[in-house]
Formats: sequence, C-alpha cells, structure tokens
Amino acid sequence: SFIPPIRGANAPSAGAAVGAVSMPRGPSADNTATEDSTRKCMEMLAGPDGELPDKLKNLEPRLLEHVSNEIMDQDPNVRWDDIAGLEHAKKCVTEMVIYPLLRPDIFQGCRAPGKGLLLFGPPGTGKTMIGKAIAGEAKATFFSISASSLTSKWIGEGEKLVRALFGVASCRQPAVIFIDEIDSLLSQRKSEGEHESSRRLKTQFLIEMEGCGSGNEQILLIGATNRPQELDEAARRRLSKRLYIPLPSHEARAWIVRSLLQRDGLLSLSDEDVDSICTATDGYSGSDMKNLVKEASMGPLRELLMQGKDISSISPHDMRPISLQDFVNALQQVRPSVSPDELGMYEDWNRQFGSLA
Ligand code: ADP
Repeated sequence: SFIPPIRGANAPSAGAAVGAVSMPRGPSADNTATEDSTRKCMEMLAGPDGELPDKLKNLEPRLLEHVSNEIMDQDPNVRWDDIAGLEHAKKCVTEMVIYPLLRPDIFQGCRAPGKGLLLFGPPGTGKTMIGKAIAGEAKATFFSISASSLTSKWIGEGEKLVRALFGVASCRQPAVIFIDEIDSLLSQRKSEGEHESSRRLKTQFLIEMEGCGSGNEQILLIGATNRPQELDEAARRRLSKRLYIPLPSHEARAWIVRSLLQRDGLLSLSDEDVDSICTATDGYSGSDMKNLVKEASMGPLRELLMQGKDISSISPHDMRPISLQDFVNALQQVRPSVSPDELGMYEDWNRQFGSLA
C-alpha cells in the first residue's frame, strides 16, 4: 500500500514545492505492484458501468487508494457490549445517529438528525471505540483519520485528501467519518504563521462538512477531541451534538479489569479483589486500566524470571495466577493520566456546550 509523503527519507528536498509532492516510487518491480493495487482499488470504487462515480473522477487515484486502504475500515469490529459503562452516551447515540442511519425514511423533516457529532473528554475513555461501534451497529462503512496527520504527514496535500475522503465516503453510504483530534483542524487559535495550505485545508473541511449535512447524504461526521475548548463557534455549530465521554465509573473499571483478564483466561481474582482494585483506581481512564492490567499480568512471569528460570523453558502453566498483590505493585507503575484540574475543565465545557449537560 501507499506511504503518504512524510517528513524524513521520503520527504521532498528543501525548496521543493509543497503541494506538488509526488508519490515516493520504488524500483520498477515495486512500481508494477503499486500500479496493480491502484487498478484494483479503482475497480472497487467503480460503479456497475465500470466507470468511476462523477464525484471521484477528478481526484488523484493514489489519494483514493490511500483512503480506501488506510482510512476506510470495512469491519471495525467493535460492538456496544465491548464498551464499559457510558450507558447514557450509548443511549443518546443510538437515538441521535444510529436509528437515523438505519431508517433514513423515518428520520426526515422535523426528525432529521444533525450530521455532526462531537465526542469530547479525557484521552483513553472510549471515544474511538464509540465511533467504531456506531459504524458497526449502523452497518455503515467506517473511515477514521487523525486530523493531525492531515497537517503533519500530508503537508500541503491535506485539502486534496479531505476531498478524496468525503468523495469515497459518499460512494460508500451509509458512512461514518471519524476524525480524531479534530481540534487540530478546527482550532480557533490562529497560529502565527498559519500556512496558506492549512487555511485551505480548514476551509475545504468545513465545505465538505456542510455538504454531508445537506440533501440525502447518509454520512455522519464524528469528531473526537481531548481539547474541546480549542474549538471555535463555527466548529461547535457544525458539530451540533456534543457528548461528554467521562472517565469510567467504579463499575465500569471493574468491568474492564474482568473482561480483559477473562478474555485471556486469566481471571483468578475474587469479587472483593476486583472491588479493591477499583477503589484504588479512582481517576483512571479506560486505557489506564488496560495498562494496569497489562502491568499486573507481568507479575507472575517476572517472579519466575527472578527465581532464575530461563525464558525459553517457561511454560504458561508454570505461572501462578495473577493476584491482588500484582495489581498493588502495578499501581506504583501505572498512574492516572488525567489530572483533577483537567477534569474540571471538561465538566465546565460540558455545562456550557454539552448536549446532555
Ligand atoms: P479515546 O478515543 O477516548 O482516546 P479509545 O477509544 O481509543 O480512547 O480507548 C483506548 C483503549 O482504552 C481502548 O482500546 C480500550 O482498550 C480501552 N478503553 C477505554 N475506554 C473504554 C471503555 N469505556 N470500555 C472498554 N475499554 C475502554
């Protein structure tokens, strides 16, 4: 598959015109393989008549291929049941966006849904999982890209890639476009030397957003951010539903610990053990909990290594079950990644701009 033109070995030399970046081409053998995969991709995007849809005709094949291979995910494979807690958010999302995607005929006129959803809150709380689950539950094609990659990797080409992204999405409806770190694209801060290209990127993005909200397009745009306060009024207006995705509750943390261990057949803790782990992890995010479980699960292995056992001769059966003490030790290593101050900021913003505040 294609590698986007990144800084580094493949970057254009200093002074080369940004925006005229050509695809890095390998030796001729690679070239043939690349042309082959581009052709396959074009075939996949073509309509029944074998022609590319009008929307895609003027877009560069390599960008369409990048969208199809790297950004589009046919089966994100996350279901509501994989996400701990967040019951309220799940319920709202179901009514606000999943039902309308499943039954566009009912959700018209007064019932027409907003086409933009913002998920905001601390990092590692399940925003990306929710985006994937929405696509899964609504049987929609999922497109996922981090906004910062548009500005950093695709220097000068972000605008064209955005056009390709929305173009392919409109040929793959219903579609969910998930933009992580959306603040970096729609930030209200005018950076000092804001490049012409990043201004164009922002404008293009806003135009595409307006477009997917009009007519009968079945495209839902989901923006995720850890920095909602960076979004300006125009961005907030376009992301008309704004859901706070908070840190997991005590029960949700218990669910995460149990399900991660159970999945690997390693759940040997009692209910009381799990309860005391959750009492000790107030303020931990879902991904902090995942890291904690990872660290704790190393305990039994480390113990064998300390006893001088050789890694090549250890059988999984030699390891004792994971204990509460492993978690106590892991708590020293894995600290919560969100501070109480930051939490206060999310809560303030939720009160002011959130849809469910
Ligand atoms: P975000 O997009 O909010 O930064 P992610 O959705 O990428 O966070 O979550 C990162 C990882 O943390 C997930 O892959 C999952 O393992 C774990 N996680 C976070 N929140 C939850 C949750 N509510 N339920 C289950 N796992 C979670």
